[in-house]
Amino acid sequence: MSRTPVLIVGAGIAGAATAYFLAQRGVRGIVILERAASAATHSTGRNAAILRTAAPQAAVHALAADSMRFYLKPPEGFSEVPLVQSVGLYLAAPQHATQGLENWVTAQGNSLDARRADPAELYAIYPQLARDLGAAWHFEREGVLDVEAIVQGFLRGARQAGAEVRFGCEARELLFEGDRVVGVASEQGDVLARQTVLASGAWADHLPQRAGRQASLQVRRRHLMSTPPLPELADQGPVVWIEGDDFYFRPESGGLLLCACDQDVVHADDSECLREEVLDEFAQKCARWLPGFPELQAARIWAGARTFAADEHFSVGPDPEWQGLHWVAGLAGHGISCGAAVGRLAAEWIAESWSAVPVAHLHAPRLSKLAKH
Ligand SMILES: Cc1cc2nc3c(=O)[nH]c(=O)nc-3n(C[C@H](O)[C@H](O)[C@H](O)COP(=O)(O)OP(=O)(O)OC[C@H]3O[C@@H](n4cnc5c(N)ncnc54)[C@H](O)[C@@H]3O)c2cc1C
Repeated sequence: MSRTPVLIVGAGIAGAATAYFLAQRGVRGIVILERAASAATHSTGRNAAILRTAAPQAAVHALAADSMRFYLKPPEGFSEVPLVQSVGLYLAAPQHATQGLENWVTAQGNSLDARRADPAELYAIYPQLARDLGAAWHFEREGVLDVEAIVQGFLRGARQAGAEVRFGCEARELLFEGDRVVGVASEQGDVLARQTVLASGAWADHLPQRAGRQASLQVRRRHLMSTPPLPELADQGPVVWIEGDDFYFRPESGGLLLCACDQDVVHADDSECLREEVLDEFAQKCARWLPGFPELQAARIWAGARTFAADEHFSVGPDPEWQGLHWVAGLAGHGISCGAAVGRLAAEWIAESWSAVPVAHLHAPRLSKLAKH
């Protein structure tokens, strides 16, 4: 049976971006297996679509900043619509948390693209906001990503270079020759590959577990809520993220999209099931931070998975034990903001067969090289 050069399991942003950048590097004959009937049906299709580069972890900041450059100026023909709505993002903190915010925003280049802002600016934009903020930073170019356009752009680019996406096809077992992974058994038969890539989000460690490994990823469920249209809101308002009390919101379809930043640990298969008590958590945070909207209703509530490695670093790179296996997983709450750079980095590792880099570690030298692209 012939071997495809690279087999990718999962067509969320991780798999789509990796396929795209492999194709850009001249890799032909890529196969993507996706269990669902279409791309981006799990975390990639269930998130808040916020482009945010500031992060306490230097690696996340570098990857998001690199991705932002791609999203703001994608290659010719990548998408017919803009990938970013630069409505701006404010990171703000209540009085008790201003020092914490200050410490990490001014570190690691996080604030290079930002401006210290008076919280009064925010009260002018959102008069409904509680007057409890002690500090704020404004990131002018950040805002809301068109996730569908991004994923379709990656997949289109990969297909144009001959990649094949097989929807409705679940990878069930890793196939081995000795210690080398040589593809997967799928519901449509065996697919042999020189390199196999786990880009399967909350399920990424399931195939290794079936081959005897311990679980290596933790799945944390998070809910989002959208409200019906609110006539008092400006449609193009910025994203507001309250650090120190974990709450964010942004305009969406004439109303608000809100997140109370809950995170209970669940099995991957339960990550999209709603937890009843979350309604109270939304009500409490809305009462605390948006008292000017006393009766916010939920038009829709949904949940999705944020997936973490034990050390909370992204799991991008070759498997430390099994040759022929790569990971592009554990993207936590940053997979969309960081997706382009993660795909590029993963493609470099896969195409150039670097093997010395342990999984779950992003090396600083590689990142500084990346940031100069
Ligand atoms: C509520 C919430 C809000 C978020 N907000 C943001 C945000 O504003 N900005 C941001 O940057 N990030 C955000 N995130 C994080 C972001 O959504 C994720 O980091 C990202 O989507 C992960 O992408 P992925 O491709 O790894 O996983 P997924 O999108 O889940 O893709 C994995 C794919 O693999 C497929 N698959 C799994 N197992 C198999 C198998 N055995 N065979 C074949 N296919 C398989 C699945 O069907 C799925 O399509 C948020 C997450 C949540 C839950």
